[in-house]
Amino acid sequence: MARVYNFSAGPSMLPESVLKTAADEMLDYHGSGQSVLEMSHRSAVFDKIIKDAEALLREIMNIPDNYKVLFLQGGGSTQFAMVALNLMNKNNKADYIITGQWAKKAYQEAVRYGDAKAVASSEDKTYSYIPKTDRSMFRDDADYVYICMNNTIYGTVYHELPDTGDIPLVADISSCILSEPIDVSKFGLLFAGAQKNVSGAGVTIVIVREDLIGNAMDITPTMLNYKTHADKDSLFNTPPCYSIYVAKLVFEWIKNEIGGLDKMKELNEKKAKLLYDFLDNSKLFKGTVVAEDRSLMNVPFVTGDKDLDAKFVKEATENGLVNIKGHRSVGGMRASIYNAMPYEGVEKLVEFMKKFEAENK
Ligand SMILES: *Cc1c(COP(=O)(O)O)cnc(C)c1O
Repeated sequence: MARVYNFSAGPSMLPESVLKTAADEMLDYHGSGQSVLEMSHRSAVFDKIIKDAEALLREIMNIPDNYKVLFLQGGGSTQFAMVALNLMNKNNKADYIITGQWAKKAYQEAVRYGDAKAVASSEDKTYSYIPKTDRSMFRDDADYVYICMNNTIYGTVYHELPDTGDIPLVADISSCILSEPIDVSKFGLLFAGAQKNVSGAGVTIVIVREDLIGNAMDITPTMLNYKTHADKDSLFNTPPCYSIYVAKLVFEWIKNEIGGLDKMKELNEKKAKLLYDFLDNSKLFKGTVVAEDRSLMNVPFVTGDKDLDAKFVKEATENGLVNIKGHRSVGGMRASIYNAMPYEGVEKLVEFMKKFEAENK
C-alpha cells in the first residue's frame, strides 16, 4: 500500500528514512544480535544510544552547558504537574498566559499546588491570537511565567517571546520543538512530548536550567522530581528506550539530511507559505488565525459550512490526505505540517483544495 500524507496533530509523520533505518535495525541493532526493544537499558549499547541522543540534541539546539537534558515519560501532560511541583517553590506563585487548551490544562494543574494566576488569555476569540503582554503584567515575586509556545489546536505561535525580566520563562514546546532555532538561554525550562516532531509517543524531553533543579515541594513524588532524573542521567528507572532511539535517528536526520535547524526553518516556512498563500486567496477556505500569530506547524481552516467541511475531510481522506479534520473546539479542518511532512504533501493538499473549490462553488 502507498504511504499516505498524514496531517495528524500527533502522533504524526516521521521521516521515511528514519522509519527505514529503524526497520533495517529492528532484528539486530549494530551487531548486538538484539532489537532496541529488547535490550537492557543498563547495557553499554543502549548507554551509547541515549548519550548520542543527548549529545545530538545539544548540538542541534545549541543547548548551553548549564542546562540539563532529561528523557522522561508521562507525556507533555505530566509536565503540567511537574513544572508546578518543582518550580513553584520560592514564593509559591506562578503566572500563566492562557493561549489554548494545553496552557489552560497546565494552569489548572498548577492551581492545585499554589497561587497560579492567569495573567492573560485569548479565550474570548477561541484562542485565535496571542495576547499581548508586558513585564508589568507579571508579579515580581512569581517563581516563573508559563507559556505554550505553539498552540497545536488553534494554530498560533509566539513569534516574539514575552518580556518576563528575570522571572524564569517556562514553555511547552511540544508541537514546535526542532521546527526552527530557539534561544534556549532565554528560558528556565522547556519541555516537549515527542510524538509531534521528535519520535513516537513515549519520551518527553525536558531542558531545564540547573539552578532550577533540587528545590521541589516536599509532597513531590520521587518520579516527578527533576532531581531524581537529573542525578541519574535519565536512567533512574527504565526509560522509554525505543522512543529515545527513534529520537536519536530523527536528530541525525535533522543534522545530516536537513542540515540543522536554520535549514529546517526554511523548509517549514516554504511549506507553510504555500498553504497560507492559498488560504489568503481562496474564496471558499479561510484560515482561522490572525496573520501575525500564525503557526508554521498547525494550520486550521474552515469553509464556514459544516456539511462542506465534512465533505472535504471525507474526499481528502479518499485521496490519501488523512487526519485533516479539525479539533472539535475549532471545527473545520487542521493541517499539521510538522518537520517530517514533505513539501510534496502540502503541494498535494493545495492542489486538492483548488479542485474541491472549483467543484463546490
Ligand atoms: C500534544 C500536546 C500536549 C499533550 O501531550 P501528551 O504527550 O499527549 O500529554 C501538550 N502540549 C502541547 C502543546 C501539545 O501539542
